[in-house]
Amino acid sequence: MPPKVLVVGSANADLVVAVDRRPGGGETVLGADTVVLPGGKGANTAVAAAKLGASVALLGAVGDDQYGALLRESLRGAGVRAELVRTADRPTGIAYITVTPDGENSIVVSPGANAQVSSSDVDAAVEALRGARVLVCSLEVPVASVEHAVALAAEAGVRPLVNLSPVAELSARTLAALDPLVVNEHEAGWLLGEPDPADDAVTLAGRLLELGPRSVVITLGARGAVVATADGAHRVAAPSVRAVDTTGAGDAFAGALAVRLAEGDGLAEAAGYAARVAATSVTRNGAQPSYPSTDEVVA
Ligand code: ATP
Repeated sequence: MPPKVLVVGSANADLVVAVDRRPGGGETVLGADTVVLPGGKGANTAVAAAKLGASVALLGAVGDDQYGALLRESLRGAGVRAELVRTADRPTGIAYITVTPDGENSIVVSPGANAQVSSSDVDAAVEALRGARVLVCSLEVPVASVEHAVALAAEAGVRPLVNLSPVAELSARTLAALDPLVVNEHEAGWLLGEPDPADDAVTLAGRLLELGPRSVVITLGARGAVVATADGAHRVAAPSVRAVDTTGAGDAFAGALAVRLAEGDGLAEAAGYAARVAATSVTRNGAQPSYPSTDEVVA
């Protein structure tokens, strides 16, 4: 049986170290013990969707090393199908994350195997892709592979969702297929060039629609999200929660949105549910470990 949700994206080991302050150039600082966590936007999204009970597969690549084994184990534990995760001849992607006491992250990503996720990997997965209801892509893998997956999905009548993170330039053809394009405020600003600082998120969403996508979601952190289609734009409220760690909130949102769209919800309804899932995730530490099952999602 093909998965209902196919995720094309990265799998990284997150190497997290708490520091009092970041080192400047040529400087060394001592940090706390390193914590190693499964991460990467693709793997996070797939895990978030699978924890909600959906049938989900990840198309990606890891290395033949301890971090690749860690990622495969976390996917298996969450119920994500990993038969389309290739073992590449480069090391598993790693995110080197320093966290300062104010909670701010600085991150260097070494893509490793993720850089080898290719259009031929997408071609090899065409049966799974054609059988899925929703394709979800993020951009820690090559843009060309994402654009190829979106083109095949559109041809096959599979709904393509791209979480444009990290932000990248997409062709007009790719943009025109997206339903929705999902971005945060920074990514929206990048896509629109210098947006007018007076523009609110509803206006920005309308301007993003003019770039061609069939629908747009802008995520706004604790302020929720805005959803826009040709019929108009709506605000989606974020439940009020005590946030302890917002890492991976955007990936939780994308995974939950895909699950609900695959089940046939309308975009505004699906985004409302995704906001509840993402809000639940920020009340707990980490990315993947913070993602809720359906009965844990806050009201
Ligand atoms: P990240 O890069 O941390 O994964 P992002 O920048 O892609 O996140 P955000 O807009 O920060 O995405 O968050 C995604 C969604 O998570 C928001 O639209 C919102 O629904 C939810 N969220 C984030 N922070 C909070 C919060 N403090 N309280 C409630 N919901 C939140």
